[in-house]
Amino acid sequence: MQTYAYGYPRLGESREFKRLIEGYWQGKVSEADLRDGLSALEQYRLATYAQFVDAYPIGEMTMYDNMLDTAIMLGVYPIDPNDLDAYFALARGADALPMTKWFNTNYHYLVAHLDAQTAFRLHWNKPLQAFQQHGAGYPYLIGPYTFLRLSRGCAPDQLPTLLERLTPVYAEILNSLKQAGAAYVHIDEPAFALDAPDAEVNAICAAYQTLGQHAPILLMTYYDSVDFLPHLYDLPLAGVGLDLVQGKRNFETLAQHGFPRDKVLIAGVVDGRNVWKTDLRTAAERVRTLAQQTGATVWLANAAPLMHLPVTVQPESALDPALKERVAFAKERLQELRLLKTLLTDGETDAVRAWNAYQHATDHWRSPAVQQRVASLTPDDFERAAPYPERDRLQRERLNLPPFPTTTIGSFPQTPEVRQMRQAYRTGKITAEEYDAYIQSQIRGLIAFQEQIGLDVLVHGEFERTDMVEFFAEKMDGIAFTQQGWLLSYGTRVYRPPIIHGDVVRTAPMTVKETAYAQSLTQKPVKGMLTGPVTIIAWSYVREDIPVEQVAYQIALALQDEVRDLEEAGIPIIQIDEPAYREKAPLKRADWDAYFRWAAQAFKLAARAKPETQIHTHMCYSDFNTVLQYIDWMDADVITIEAARAKGEVISAFEHYNYTRQIGPGAFDVHTPAVPSVGSIEAVMTRAIRVFPKEQFWVNPDCGLKTRKWDEVIPALKHMVQAARNLRERQA
Ligand code: GLN
Ligand code: ZN
Repeated sequence: MQTYAYGYPRLGESREFKRLIEGYWQGKVSEADLRDGLSALEQYRLATYAQFVDAYPIGEMTMYDNMLDTAIMLGVYPIDPNDLDAYFALARGADALPMTKWFNTNYHYLVAHLDAQTAFRLHWNKPLQAFQQHGAGYPYLIGPYTFLRLSRGCAPDQLPTLLERLTPVYAEILNSLKQAGAAYVHIDEPAFALDAPDAEVNAICAAYQTLGQHAPILLMTYYDSVDFLPHLYDLPLAGVGLDLVQGKRNFETLAQHGFPRDKVLIAGVVDGRNVWKTDLRTAAERVRTLAQQTGATVWLANAAPLMHLPVTVQPESALDPALKERVAFAKERLQELRLLKTLLTDGETDAVRAWNAYQHATDHWRSPAVQQRVASLTPDDFERAAPYPERDRLQRERLNLPPFPTTTIGSFPQTPEVRQMRQAYRTGKITAEEYDAYIQSQIRGLIAFQEQIGLDVLVHGEFERTDMVEFFAEKMDGIAFTQQGWLLSYGTRVYRPPIIHGDVVRTAPMTVKETAYAQSLTQKPVKGMLTGPVTIIAWSYVREDIPVEQVAYQIALALQDEVRDLEEAGIPIIQIDEPAYREKAPLKRADWDAYFRWAAQAFKLAARAKPETQIHTHMCYSDFNTVLQYIDWMDADVITIEAARAKGEVISAFEHYNYTRQIGPGAFDVHTPAVPSVGSIEAVMTRAIRVFPKEQFWVNPDCGLKTRKWDEVIPALKHMVQAARNLRERQA
């Protein structure tokens, strides 16, 4: 029995990765020091693997993103990889590659753009370089199918042709690795867990039929099960890695079709996506059964790359001890693999027993009251008291807005001053009163500004929030925070996911103070601003001792109480942001209905406001075609979406769908510093107006303005208001 681990975080225990690279960008770290530093970090990663497991990949380190490196390797962007300026220009320059979410994780990769003419060639043998530099280990590659499936610019039916064209390039790399003495080559193919049409499955088989002849391949799949697993059995592969945590259906396939004896079954049994300790006995039992069932050689592995976990729990001295002894981050997962091997070879040792012996009482994590509240929910509790047409009438009477009402998505520029004041408050340098007074002054300024430029629905600006999930999570019981639990979200950008470990309870109003203050300053309606239950769950680690929908309903009830308090404070409009609603969807379409059912229910539970309260929601992505029906399920009165970047695409999705509620298709892209002209905003609006009746139409930016500067925001919003006025005149 051997252990194998992969995807160990590159960030480093003290975020060395971030410090080195950002230091280089700022001119504080020389190129030589950057290279030495990253090489030392890689040594540390490899030494950590070696300390706990028998084998691991080599060459997972990157200076920004492995999908970018793959595109360079294959000659799609034939820059000199040693030319750091050229490299970082692709990653983050003015003409950088676009970025998007990696599967249903919160990591973002850089998206290569291909076309039917793209000619691939081996431009940079990165795995060979890494192998020569660091010796032991199995060279690591992102596989050709995953690379193509996650690139853009090609029609799906071209994929088989491109895969065929890419195969000789991969073959060349594999040859070189074999010649250099690599025992195995680690190829990541997480895209095997997506739904794949037959033509693609055939193309995959043809490609690996060839590739397997050039080097012994460990083909790693993860994030879900592989529907076409038995097709891989006849291929000349040395081993196949399966996710046995998220990919529950893999078990069924294995029970039904067995597993070939000539291949290693790399059993992903310790979780790479969530932080709860592995129950070693259950995992061992599972592995024993698999080995007996299949007769195959089994290796023990993590189920998904460990980069979705922080580096180690060790430094978390402020964490509740009862929680700390229950969680495992990346390093602890390696420890689990070692213990699992011990358990399977030597039986139960003290170390194994100690691992699962939780000592501390956790009663203080439970709230019988909230459990009772969730248990007694009836279908009616998820529905608003009146159907949309009636609500619409009541809301129009109450709000009396002009046609094409203008609004924003919530946040305004978070200036260095705002961030400094928040930091000063957190570290005790200023009192709560001083901080509140400061936030109030910001709100006053913002209300005056919004009135002056003529927006119709105002916001308070979210100056008191760092992060839209963290802000709410900190105000709820049952959710914990780490001090060092950082993850890379893209490039060198890090975030710390909260840990939802107990029953979630709102202990006091969370947003009423700022929102009511803003409303007290103006006759215009102020829109309250909440983060929805699905997004809070998607960007946290979530307990697994109760079904996820129960967690979602607990959070939704806390938000519902907040909605009620806002209503009582006279707030007529409440926006509940759900930017993660689509991204959290399972990889396989067959699982969508079940997911969206509870996701929509949770949203509706939170949004169960009075009929005359207008509920908005906001999402920011462009791929709406597939999810419109599920957005409808949310029963929001108004949705604001991203439309400016993807231009016609978003709007055309609605051409084929009778969307009867109100919609604000983002009038300009907040992700670029460029100030949109009145004409360009009108152009987006005019295109959209052909699709939606004008009574349904809102005018707003496509996301929050917090990352923009004031001197960009002021003219942009003025132009937006002017564009709305022009529309009103023309349509009158
Ligand atoms: N209300 C949030 C903001 O304006 C929404 C952010 C988001 O969509 N991610 O910042
Ligand atoms: Zn957004």
